[in-house]
Amino acid sequence: MKRQPPKSAENGIRNGTTTPSNGVMSNGVAKQQPTTGPTGFAGFLHYTFVPVFLMVTVPNLSIIIWYSATECDGSFLVCFQRLSQRGFVSGLWGIWADFNIVNPTVCGIILGYCAFAVALHVLLPGPRAEGPVTPKGNIPVYKDNGFFCYVVTMAAFAALTCFLKQNGMSPTVVYDHFGEILACLTVFSHVICVMLYIKGLKFPSTSDCGSSGNVVFDYYWGTELYPRVFGVDVKVFTNCRFGMTVWPLLVLIFAIKSYELHGFVDSIWVSTLLQMIYFTKFFWWESGYMRTIDIMLDRAGFMICWGCLVFIPGLYASVSLYLVNQPVRLGLPLSLFIALAGIVSIAVNYIADKQKQDVRASDGQCQIWGRKAEVIRAKYHLERGETRESLLLVSGYWGLARHFHYVPELMLAFFWSVPGLFQNLMVYTYVIFLTILLVHRTFRDDRKCGQKYGEYWQEYCRRVPYKMVPGLF
Ligand code: NDP
Repeated sequence: MKRQPPKSAENGIRNGTTTPSNGVMSNGVAKQQPTTGPTGFAGFLHYTFVPVFLMVTVPNLSIIIWYSATECDGSFLVCFQRLSQRGFVSGLWGIWADFNIVNPTVCGIILGYCAFAVALHVLLPGPRAEGPVTPKGNIPVYKDNGFFCYVVTMAAFAALTCFLKQNGMSPTVVYDHFGEILACLTVFSHVICVMLYIKGLKFPSTSDCGSSGNVVFDYYWGTELYPRVFGVDVKVFTNCRFGMTVWPLLVLIFAIKSYELHGFVDSIWVSTLLQMIYFTKFFWWESGYMRTIDIMLDRAGFMICWGCLVFIPGLYASVSLYLVNQPVRLGLPLSLFIALAGIVSIAVNYIADKQKQDVRASDGQCQIWGRKAEVIRAKYHLERGETRESLLLVSGYWGLARHFHYVPELMLAFFWSVPGLFQNLMVYTYVIFLTILLVHRTFRDDRKCGQKYGEYWQEYCRRVPYKMVPGLF
């Protein structure tokens, strides 16, 4: 019997179709060959070599970052010299071998947090929100309780910290076991990815699923766009309730660790302040995040799941991790200047995201920078042939460059890193990574929108010729 995805679900997916429009494998899953991707040797590189290479190397990067920050005075150079003494690979293997990934404290922290986060997500109420219509015509439906979950989590963390302090303990036990936590999370994320891989092929939640025909690529990229387990959206959990919530918790834990070690040092607190404002903005806008590339394009595979479960804690929180052992006393004027510049960057990024949201929510009937919004009414087709329309904003920040909002995102990352000043490159690892990610994303998004909107996207590119930096790029 062919298994069909569920027809509709409140707080789930509104299915636009019950029958996959392209080939159906024996298990009823839509078979989606990467028809527009590279073939031959380029296809091997794209679908097999690069995913394997990334899956093998990037987990080591998060361990190298941790090891450099905590054992090598925040210096990659010292780290490489130390690892090379034993031969780089065996030096690295030695670090992994020292971890006890079944350490009860480590497993307790991870599983305890996951249970807490899932319980909050399920129990806390929130208004209904919809994601963008998928190529198969499904509309994901969410409970918009991200801000509520964030506030309750931070309040619970404050209460837990007070309780632990009163009993002679500290949440900085997380810092003390952080290497083991990253290693354990890596194993944990593989377990989740294997389950998601099988689920996407055998028990998909919607018709936006299927195999590319390449096992490696399927594992790396995922087999489902919007998997749900017991009604919980997997990407909401991995991206928002885990990655984006663990990051602020780590930033706070590392700041407390710095205080325990050195007393008050302004550099880590300036960085903490900017990051906390950024997280608060993120959760305030979470339903907007459900309409971004991470959610509407990336499937729930290794890239997204490992990225959110391990890379966000390991890399994104690395600025604060670095500052724990490399305190810098900035003084009030410099601290204020950096904080102010960072806050302006957050505001510009937020307003740019909001302009896009407002123009679509009001069907173009809104003011942008004091004038009626200029839009292109772009038509596109769903896979089953139905025609839909979206608005492309051509004024405001979206008239300066097609991804101008990435500029303040990068400036902000720079401002929360620069309190570490210029002694080591390590403190800028996140900025460098984010620059590569966002520049690559401008190409990805142009390709995605070009395929979706065709001549309408070309018109937008004619009217707004720059990808990111007006006049330059
Ligand atoms: P974007 O906000 O850039 O959204 C891209 C989508 O918006 C496009 O695919 C298209 O989707 C739609 N769109 C494109 N141009 C227009 C336009 N002119 N008018 C209206 N809609 C348009 O998504 P991102 O996910 O890249 O970024 C979202 C936020 O997340 C940003 O603030 C960014 O800085 C931040 N970010 C942070 C990262 C981090 O690691 N710190 C990484 C990536 C992003 P459609 O199909 O709906 O038309």
